[in-house]
Amino acid sequence: MTDSNIKEIENLIKIISKLPGLGPKSAKRIVLKLINNREELIKPLTNTLAQVYKNVVRCKNCGNLKSINVHCICLSKNYDQICVVENIADMWVIESSGIYKGHYHILGGTLPLFEGKNNKNGLLIDSLINRVKKNSVKEVILATSASVEGETTSHYIADSLKDTKAKITRLAKGVPVGGEIEFLDDGTLFSAFKNRAPIISD
Ligand SMILES: [Zn+2]
Repeated sequence: MTDSNIKEIENLIKIISKLPGLGPKSAKRIVLKLINNREELIKPLTNTLAQVYKNVVRCKNCGNLKSINVHCICLSKNYDQICVVENIADMWVIESSGIYKGHYHILGGTLPLFEGKNNKNGLLIDSLINRVKKNSVKEVILATSASVEGETTSHYIADSLKDTKAKITRLAKGVPVGGEIEFLDDGTLFSAFKNRAPIISD
């Protein structure tokens, strides 16, 4: 992989290659840049990574990131609407589009298709139900992807929430089939949000 034969360098290249959008070639370029800027890059990067590792965690209630010693915003305020997404990247896309300004719930993925409904794949579904009940939420917007997994997850959640007073809506079908929210442009996202409709659970 490299001609360096330095174990530390090879390990670093291996790790950086695992990051999204980076292969071995760009990883090598990054490592070189780091090595050539020990004080300006390696030192602050090492400290910052250690701090993030130590202090930033996922909230067990809403799935969002939070500082370890700070109460998550999901516990401290009342709210009318919750937008349910699969992952944090999806939430960031919706947030930066400015279409929706309410609270989020990050599931952490989708339900497995063939393993029965008792296997929730570690998804934060129970805590979503609790949040909806506790805050008397008026609308739950399901913004999972338009894939089979996303649809299945949406229906399962809608079904689990049917005893609450919340109106359950789903993003409109403007989302291309199999489409991941993360990769939608603002226009598509806007119309999917605007034309969201109540989900009928079967
Ligand atoms: Zn939270």
